[in-house]
Amino acid sequence: MSERDWYEILGVSPDATHEEIRAAYRRLARRYHPDSAEGGGDPKQFQLVQEAWEVLSDPDRRAAYDQKRRLQRLRRGRRRSMVGARPAVTMPVRYTLVMSPHEAARGGTVEVPVPYLWRCPVCLGSGLVAFEPCSDCDGGGTVKYTAVFTVHVPAGVRHNEILHFRADEPVPAEIMLRVALRGSGGRGYY
Ligand SMILES: [Zn+2]
Repeated sequence: MSERDWYEILGVSPDATHEEIRAAYRRLARRYHPDSAEGGGDPKQFQLVQEAWEVLSDPDRRAAYDQKRRLQRLRRGRRRSMVGARPAVTMPVRYTLVMSPHEAARGGTVEVPVPYLWRCPVCLGSGLVAFEPCSDCDGGGTVKYTAVFTVHVPAGVRHNEILHFRADEPVPAEIMLRVALRGSGGRGYY
């Protein structure tokens, strides 16, 4: 499957009108034609211009090409951003921890589930399977996962106190827990 950019070859923008494409094609075909008066032409470039015109002058082929081109660009961008990376929760997680006064006095461990987006395991983030949009992620390249963090709450936390954690497992994340004691009113929740 060719990854040539037919718009670049014709020197037009991807939203060029049919007339603009035709004008660019005519100009370039004249310039590169093997019998061109301007220095013998360029058969290879002429061939490319010809192919670009065949694709872009046909509304159906152009629409199909536009979609493929968008997906290829998406995939290239995503590959760059995900190469060598591991999943991470990039935004600080804010979570309200509702506890009874008794639990707060005693402390303990709590589990905090955090949803996050990461590379689709089916298309590996490309958004494409066999040049079609991936059905598992609708071509977006990411799917939703849930990381469950186990954090330790010290004994004696107070209402509205904010506990700050940096976790590395199961994925790196910054977590802020606001303690809400039952019976202390609903203020301060977020
Ligand atoms: Zn996918």
